[in-house]
Amino acid sequence: MTGEVLAQVALTAANMLAAGPICDACLGGAFGRLGHGLTNEERARSLRGVAALVGERGKPGPCWVCGDVFGEAEAWAARARAEVGEIEFATYLCAVRPSLRWQEAERLLVERFHLAHAEPQKHAWNRTVGKAFERLAGHGTVDFSDPDVKFTIDPAAGTIEIDIASVFVYGRYRKLERGIPQTHWPCRRCRGRGCAECGGTGKQYADSVEELVGAPFVQACHASGAILHGAGREDIDARMLGSGRPFVLEIVRPHVRSIDARALGGEVNAAARGRVEVSNLRLCRRDAVGIVKETDAGKTYRARVEFEKDVSPDALVAALDSLVGDIAQRTPRRVAHRRADLVRTRRLRAARVTRSELREAEIEMVTDGGLYVKELVSGDEGRTEPSLAGRLGTAAVVRELDVLDISSDGFPDAEEVARGGSPSGE
Ligand SMILES: [Zn+2]
Ligand SMILES: [Zn+2]
Repeated sequence: MTGEVLAQVALTAANMLAAGPICDACLGGAFGRLGHGLTNEERARSLRGVAALVGERGKPGPCWVCGDVFGEAEAWAARARAEVGEIEFATYLCAVRPSLRWQEAERLLVERFHLAHAEPQKHAWNRTVGKAFERLAGHGTVDFSDPDVKFTIDPAAGTIEIDIASVFVYGRYRKLERGIPQTHWPCRRCRGRGCAECGGTGKQYADSVEELVGAPFVQACHASGAILHGAGREDIDARMLGSGRPFVLEIVRPHVRSIDARALGGEVNAAARGRVEVSNLRLCRRDAVGIVKETDAGKTYRARVEFEKDVSPDALVAALDSLVGDIAQRTPRRVAHRRADLVRTRRLRAARVTRSELREAEIEMVTDGGLYVKELVSGDEGRTEPSLAGRLGTAAVVRELDVLDISSDGFPDAEEVARGGSPSGE
C-alpha cells in the first residue's frame, strides 16, 4: 500500500469518527476490502488507534449507520440455533433483510466519505451471524446456492424465518390397480375442506400414487408432506406397468435428511402391495425434477377397445397399419380445462392387434410421448386426425388402458438423474 492510500485511509477514518458515533463493524467494514486476514473489528481497532494520534476519539452512542444491529448478531445467531432445534442440516445460509433506514444510512456513509473499499454491510452481517451460528450449532458449512436450512432475519421487525430445503428421491413406479390418480386430488365439492360427500377427508380419491409412495418418506423425514413429480402421467383408470414411470418425490420441510431411500421403497411396496410398486430409488438433487418433467419419453400402450358396429380382424389390422405415422391432435376435450388448446403432431410409431372379436379388440401401440391414445382411438369428435374410429367408419372407445412401458430413449439414466446432470450428460 502506498503512503498516499495510507494517509487517505487515516484521514477518512478520522473524519468518520468525528462525524458521529459509529460501531467497529461499520468502521472496519468501510475498509473491508483492504488487507487480508483481518476482521472488520481488527481494522476498526487500528483505525481508532491512528485517529487517536491526531486527537480524534470518536463519539459515544448508538452507531448512526447500522443502529447497532451488528451488536445483535450474536443474539440472532442464538435464535437461529434455537429455531433449527433438532432439524438435520449439513449446510446453512443466514440472510438479513435490512431495514430501509439501515440501507439508506449505508448509502450515505459510502457517498459522504467516498468509500472505495467498503464491504457491503449485508455480507458482513450475514457472515458474522453465520460464524456465530456455526459455533453454537457445532457444525455446518455455509452454502449460498442450495443450503439445507436458510434463515431470513429481519432485525427491525424482530423476526426470523427458517426455510428447510426439500429432500428429493428419484425412482420409478408401477401402478398395478386402476382408479388411483397419480397425485392427490382435492374433493370437487368442498375443494379440500372436507364435506359429507368425501367423508371429511377433503379428497376425491381415497389414495394416490403420491400418497402411497410418499407416506413412509414423510414419516421417516418428519416432513410436512410429499409431492410426486412424474415423467408425464397416466389416466386414473390406466395401469402403469413394465419397468414403471420415472418420478422424483419431493419431501417437503424434512427434519431428517439422512434416509435409506431403498429401504423406505421396501416399506412402500409392502404397504401398497398389489396396488403401487416402486424401484430404483435413490436420493437425487433438486435439478432432477426438471429433467424428469421435461423428458417426453415414448410409450407402449395396451388398450381394450369396443366398437359400435362389427369390425373384422382384417379391417382392424388394415386400419391400424394405416394410422402409423403422424397424428395431428387438438387438445382433447377432457383435458381442455387444464391444458392450452392447440394442435400438436405426435407419431404413432407402431401398432398391432393382439386380440380381435368383432365388437371388441385388444391392441398395442408404441407412441411418441404426449400422444393421447384414447383420442387416437375415438377421434374425439374430429379433434384427432386421423383416428381409428375414422378409418373404421364406426365409433370406437377405449375401455381399458395400460401403459406397458416407458422408453428409456432420450431419458437420462438413474445415475445421471441422481447427480442432477443434464440428459445428454453435459
Ligand atoms: Zn454500526
Ligand atoms: Zn369434500
